[in-house]
Amino acid sequence: MVIMFNSFAPRVVFQEVPNEVSLAFLITGCPFKCEGCHSEDSWSNTAGSALCHTKFKNYINQYQGLITCVLFFGGEWQSEQLIDHLKFAKQQGLKTCLYSGADKVSQKISKHLTFLKTGRWNKQLGGLKNKNTNQRFINVKTKITLNHQFLGN
Ligand code: SF4
Repeated sequence: MVIMFNSFAPRVVFQEVPNEVSLAFLITGCPFKCEGCHSEDSWSNTAGSALCHTKFKNYINQYQGLITCVLFFGGEWQSEQLIDHLKFAKQQGLKTCLYSGADKVSQKISKHLTFLKTGRWNKQLGGLKNKNTNQRFINVKTKITLNHQFLGN
């Protein structure tokens, strides 16, 4: 199966990865189905359009010089293609981040990541801006939790 992303163009975001300007891709087919999910329309793995290597490369080239990081909202369920994209982003000198709903991701993916967000959405516990959240945002290499950088945003 081909990795799919939502039909909208990727967005440049500033807060999801602290101190980075990130080009964000929302990958469809999320299997977690969290209650209260902000993007239920992306649950279907047939929603959106294919994010082939050429298309991804073109986006990166288009935003080169404007961004410092590439962020994937999901996509670990298409690990081979995700890894290809992460490798390419790193070759271009960019940092990489994955927002996953899982509590951990495989080492074959995480070794290509600079940052990783783990944990499902839980309305009672809130997201990264809530100090009681179940979610964790880490620097993959140092394993240091960076949740404090989201507090007060
Ligand atoms: S992990 Fe994120 S995208 Fe997936 S269902 Fe949960 S809130 Fe929605």
